[in-house]
Amino acid sequence: MPSNQRPSPSIFKHKRVNSVPPASGVSRQPVHAFRGNSVPRGNRKLSALVDSGIFFSLGSAVNINAVALFHNLYGSRAATTDAVRDEVRTIARKGKPDNPGIQPAATLARNYFINSGRVAIHVVQASQSFAASLQLILAQLRNYEAARSALSGLRAASSLQKHAGEATLIALALTQSNVVILTNDSGASFVAGAQQPSIPSLHFADVLKELVCDSRGGVTATAAAAAFALACAVSDITSSAKPADAKAFLTCAFDDVGKTCGACDVS
Ligand SMILES: [Zn+2]
Repeated sequence: MPSNQRPSPSIFKHKRVNSVPPASGVSRQPVHAFRGNSVPRGNRKLSALVDSGIFFSLGSAVNINAVALFHNLYGSRAATTDAVRDEVRTIARKGKPDNPGIQPAATLARNYFINSGRVAIHVVQASQSFAASLQLILAQLRNYEAARSALSGLRAASSLQKHAGEATLIALALTQSNVVILTNDSGASFVAGAQQPSIPSLHFADVLKELVCDSRGGVTATAAAAAFALACAVSDITSSAKPADAKAFLTCAFDDVGKTCGACDVS
């Protein structure tokens, strides 16, 4: 089930912003949820629009060769936008001073998915036809971030550039049917789910679960949990957003006699 409860305006009514102290030892509010806004069902008819954090996560999970597993499962169903492509290329080129693992992960993802043409790139950022939709979605992403920051007593640090990738994915998804957004960003999941019609999203842990199921025993839960830990390190998935037991979550139930597995349940 979705873990992100939609905030109602009433939660702000009697709450003084400075009455909610930030968690000790945490420099900023987690921006990633453990789960997307839907559950993986192994549905191979869905198109997938991939956010930069998922590319970095896949590029980091070298212990299971996640890029190849993902390509085997998603193939030509996976696509992204020009804005996300540019984010991946920028990180591959420049890295981040406080995140040494992200540059090699971004470089692998760029080479494997983008430069090779394995993932189709939709030009959205520069498209006039998407301008109104993009502006509206950017405003929704900023509002979500501002509300979270206010509740945690932190200052919102929004910028158009910051949300450009997620906004283009959501705007593009609104023009398609049978599509899922793959993102580690809780704001993008929330805003996608709030669209009419609602757009489903999956987090990297959900994607990993699908890869485990698809491997039919080739990828163990232990290896998948190690891959998830690698991805957490490069994709800013904070400790409070991690599953209590990643190994349990990443176990396929299909092997158990008499049990079925929801993530294998192709619908
Ligand atoms: Zn399964």
